[in-house]
Amino acid sequence: MRFVMDNVRPIHYKIKLEPDLEGFRFSGTTEILLEASEPVDEITLNILELAIWNCKVIADADYINCPFLISPRKEEMVVSLPNEMAGKIELRIDYIGRINDKMAGFYRSQYKSQGKIKHIAVTQFEESDARRAFPCFDHPIRKATFEIEMIIDEGLVAISNCPVIDERSVGGGKKVVRFQQTPKMSTYLVFFGLGEFEFIEDPGEVMVRVATMPGMKNYAQFGLEFGRKTLNYCEDYYGIRYPLPKLDLIAIPDFAFGAMENWGAVTFRENLLLHFPDTTSKAGEERICEVIAHEIAHQWFGNLVTPSDWKYLWLNESFATYFGYGVVSHYFPEWDIWDQFLHSQTDTALERDALKETFPIEIPSATHVVINASTTPIIYNKGGSILRQVNGYIGNETFRNGLKNYLSKNEYACASSPQLWEALEEASKKPIKRMMRSWIEQPGFPMVEAKREGQNLMLRQRRFTYLPNEFDQEWIIPITVKVFCGESKSESVTILLESKQGIIDIGRDAVAYKVNYRQTGFFRVKYDDEDNLKELAKRIWAKELPPEDRWGLQNDLYALVKTSDISIDDYLDFLSSYSQEEDFLPLIGIADNLFHAYLVLKDAESEKVKSFGKCFVERLLAYLGYEPRANEKHTRSVLRDRIIPHAVLYGSKDVEDFAIQKFASLMKDEAIHPDILRSIMQVGALNGDDKVFDWFRRRLTKSESEHDRMNVLVAMGSFRDKRLVEKSQQYVLDEVPNRNKFVPLISMAANPHAVPFMWEWYRLHLNVLEQFHPLHYERVIAGIIPMSGLGRENEVRTFFENYLSQKSIATDTIKLSLEKLEINSRMRGS
Ligand SMILES: [Zn+2]
Repeated sequence: MRFVMDNVRPIHYKIKLEPDLEGFRFSGTTEILLEASEPVDEITLNILELAIWNCKVIADADYINCPFLISPRKEEMVVSLPNEMAGKIELRIDYIGRINDKMAGFYRSQYKSQGKIKHIAVTQFEESDARRAFPCFDHPIRKATFEIEMIIDEGLVAISNCPVIDERSVGGGKKVVRFQQTPKMSTYLVFFGLGEFEFIEDPGEVMVRVATMPGMKNYAQFGLEFGRKTLNYCEDYYGIRYPLPKLDLIAIPDFAFGAMENWGAVTFRENLLLHFPDTTSKAGEERICEVIAHEIAHQWFGNLVTPSDWKYLWLNESFATYFGYGVVSHYFPEWDIWDQFLHSQTDTALERDALKETFPIEIPSATHVVINASTTPIIYNKGGSILRQVNGYIGNETFRNGLKNYLSKNEYACASSPQLWEALEEASKKPIKRMMRSWIEQPGFPMVEAKREGQNLMLRQRRFTYLPNEFDQEWIIPITVKVFCGESKSESVTILLESKQGIIDIGRDAVAYKVNYRQTGFFRVKYDDEDNLKELAKRIWAKELPPEDRWGLQNDLYALVKTSDISIDDYLDFLSSYSQEEDFLPLIGIADNLFHAYLVLKDAESEKVKSFGKCFVERLLAYLGYEPRANEKHTRSVLRDRIIPHAVLYGSKDVEDFAIQKFASLMKDEAIHPDILRSIMQVGALNGDDKVFDWFRRRLTKSESEHDRMNVLVAMGSFRDKRLVEKSQQYVLDEVPNRNKFVPLISMAANPHAVPFMWEWYRLHLNVLEQFHPLHYERVIAGIIPMSGLGRENEVRTFFENYLSQKSIATDTIKLSLEKLEINSRMRGS
């Protein structure tokens, strides 16, 4: 057989669809214009769950029937051509498919309008689900142009990547909607959808719109404005105009992920696009901006220049993650968004990547990277942190110039990571290629051990994992050290540590040194130098170190508690230098570490953390105030809403009284400030009874705000009473929509009163839980195992040994969760 896939390339697709929103089916015709660079007698296309009833090729201006063979396992159809053909080949395929309820491919999403249940149909194709809607070459490198046409009910609206160019009635209450041809693009970025969409618009050279379900467009202004801002910022930063005539931001009720960057038609979960003034908190507002910025950044980084293979997917995601924060920081500098980046991105990545069960950012030999609970912290969070490290090393302007070159060189084409490094190396004249290979191609990250010998600072690197390891690895690490030389004099020194050990001359006058100044580097630091730690503690107290460093120092110490290198007492002692701390980043870092220790440790040790935690958060809430204040700093609001439930769990009577009284008003339908809504509901559940449970249920059905529903669902995971925990668990399975079932379960997995029952419940309901969207099932496992497995480690391990020998579901997540359990278990001392 002479068929070689590489010799056949798609040039243009013409897709016609007639969806049926009542029967949840669609019929389709796809015409594909191909180019064969040498004679072929077969063509292989991707399809999945499509019933093909006709396949023809055009030869001599005639349609000739082609036999075809379908392989469901390979997700392929092989079309036999009547004879060997080369050059341009045109196929026409007719088929029918289902508008499924899997939140993948062409799927249906449900909403309520005037008390009636209705549906829309939309697409979600990344990574490999375009094949569920039309036969195609479903790989990012196979870029082509697309012309899309839909036959829909007269009363409905259709949206696709490009604007509508023609709409006409065809009788019988139907109309044909034709869209402008797209630029050259990958299949996973194609979008089409139909339903009763409403819009608000911001016309301009590029039309920006937000599409919502009926009655929801009043909540779209915030997203629309920030969408326009981001578009302007990106055009300016990249120096390349946005190439489509319009950009739609579409709020979809049922959505598995957070958002999806379809070119010109970005889809979002409702709470990540719509802003409800009464229920959207500051944290929610910030998240909306981050996600919008992330997705719009992709319109260039991902859509215009696309990874040539899924193994470079991290290029897309790391960049959009990192850049998204940059956009938010530009428009809202007062939000201190880079502090949030360290806490929510870098710290998550350091946690994830310190497991032995990890993998490089660029997964070797992977032909198909699945975005899952195991990979996202590496691909998004670690990747984004590594880009911050590079940016920190070469500077903002150089970084930007490198990116601009990379994008303009590769526009409308595909690229791989070496091309980005080359562009950054060219711009910076620094050894970026070599350095990045050490970070991208090997798993894990280093711990740098620092020790002073006279005026020399001795640095040594080795791979950091929570469990003991024998790995022999090295990284090329840009390290900046801040050196303090007596009387408020200080200077910083940057080196590139290129081997296992290095020496920096810090001078005879050095009194203290902080390694990884401003935490720009993706590594942990261990000081084999008690005196230095004491000196640093003084500088924490006096705030001579910036917030990033005050955060980093305690955070690296807490990592050593998890490795059992130091005791929890050592950590708590060190925290005394934070008794005057007022900055968000160190405070939230400490609050989260204390809460983790409280959940993991037992008996006297847990009590010790609890009483320390109680003092800590009580002092903090006294400083922040229980109630949100007008015009207060953004991060104060975020912090307060986070720690109120901690305070109550640690036994703070004052905070509890306040929250209970607030919750009572809320149950009487009195308004509560959106910035404490979540925590007040959590405390309400903690002390709640059946009446509270019913009130939550009613609120879930009544509320039209997905922010509010998320708050209620988190609260439903916060009951103290065992019977109510069980009632919630059942409610999740019976009534919570699929897209949100994982939310209360994850909340329960961190609720000390529910943790003891989660394991049994998981085993009992395994069959149902496995039917969740794969990503959601993994999140549930990752929540339950590390905590609920404590005290029954052997049972859990044996169970999963059996499980994995029979099934290949969530394998990576199960392995990493078992390792987390082992780490927690060691820390607990059991
Ligand atoms: Zn993304």
